Amino acid sequence: MNAIEGKKIAIVGAGPGGLTLARLLQNKGADVSVYERDLHEHARPKGATLDLHEESGLRALKEAGLIEAFWANHRAGADKLRLVDKNGNVIFDDHDYADREVSRPEIDRGPLQKILLDALKPGTVRWDRHMLSMERAGMGWKLIFRNGETATADIVVAADGANSKIRSYLTPIKPFYSGVTVVEGAVKDSAKDSPDIHRLLNGGKIFALGDDGKSLIVSSKGDGSLVFYTGCKTEESWSRDCGIDFSNREQVQNWFAKTFEGWDIAWQELFEHAHGNFVPRPQYCMPFDQHWESQSNLTLLGDAAHLMPPYAGEGVNMAMLDALELSDCLTSEAFKDSRTAIAAYEKQMLSRASEVAAITMDSTNALHSEEAMAFFLNIIQPE
Ligand SMILES: Cc1cc2nc3c(=O)[nH]c(=O)nc-3n(C[C@H](O)[C@H](O)[C@H](O)COP(=O)(O)OP(=O)(O)OC[C@H]3O[C@@H](n4cnc5c(N)ncnc54)[C@H](O)[C@@H]3O)c2cc1C
Repeated sequence: MNAIEGKKIAIVGAGPGGLTLARLLQNKGADVSVYERDLHEHARPKGATLDLHEESGLRALKEAGLIEAFWANHRAGADKLRLVDKNGNVIFDDHDYADREVSRPEIDRGPLQKILLDALKPGTVRWDRHMLSMERAGMGWKLIFRNGETATADIVVAADGANSKIRSYLTPIKPFYSGVTVVEGAVKDSAKDSPDIHRLLNGGKIFALGDDGKSLIVSSKGDGSLVFYTGCKTEESWSRDCGIDFSNREQVQNWFAKTFEGWDIAWQELFEHAHGNFVPRPQYCMPFDQHWESQSNLTLLGDAAHLMPPYAGEGVNMAMLDALELSDCLTSEAFKDSRTAIAAYEKQMLSRASEVAAITMDSTNALHSEEAMAFFLNIIQPE
């Protein structure tokens, strides 16, 4: 007998963390529902590609029985990197190495989501369930959604991402501002609309690092589009107070030209042909020493538990490893009840996330400093 036998589990959020957990638990026969605010699978454009790591994201997929589906859908070559300076001079080029080892294969977010959704029993994900609040109901919870629906569960898992609503039911600890704000954009047909960057990208990734504390990261996607994000040190309130309308391309273009003064004019191609709105994203990180008293009917995973900036490429990998560790604890016969199972999961999750968050913050600071290039070169070509 394990800690969740006969219990109803509600996972809030159908991101990579929530869906991986749903699959792993269903494999063990658990009663799981996933509640997602999006109206359907294709409701939102998906961001940059993700590199999955052997010891975390790939391991979780392996345990979920989905590794073949991953290899059938990954994007060979998308991990190739060009490291360039602000003038577009190539400093390091992965494309040069024909026999290089691929340790971190890439997959677009859409195909990853589809693999996970297709692996669930029909009806597991309830779309259009934007959770507004929860109330205690017996030993469990009643979830209240924006569309007027409600649901009950014995155990709730918050997989509701960076701005988790559920987190505050467990802890008042809030993330701190990392000092860096990202502005994200996309070009729909990069071969046609941003041909110079498209050639430089060559189906992979570009990391452009300035000596002025600014960065620009560009990733190709399998549908012929590209996504990019700038990184700048700013005040936390910059995106609110700067007066820029991020749905107005010309305003964002002017901001980029001014803020990235001294960068090659070729980068402006991205802003001139961007498709849809730009999204400003102040980057936050959870305190490294966070902890709380574990509950018997509520826990967190992924960004809801340990938000961190994207500069170490760990977010999705951590979310998927959380799912694996939580599923192992909840379905292990070693734990006599759900509180002990959840406490064991949270102990290892918080300790691991704390180490990774500290590394990520070091990297976020270094990549937005005068020494950015030397720092990055040392990571990819250690002495
Ligand atoms: C610009 C950028 C680039 C990144 N690049 C990388 C990278 O290269 N590699 C990497 O590993 N990570 C990267 N990340 C981080 C990564 O995207 C996250 O760490 C990861 O998606 C976390 O997964 P999750 O399942 O915890 O949450 P999410 O992916 O955020 O999923 C949360 C889900 O919950 C739903 N939801 C939210 N609130 C509610 C609610 N109230 N009710 C119901 N549903 C709700 C959301 O709609 C969403 O589907 C990047 C992040 C950003 C911003």
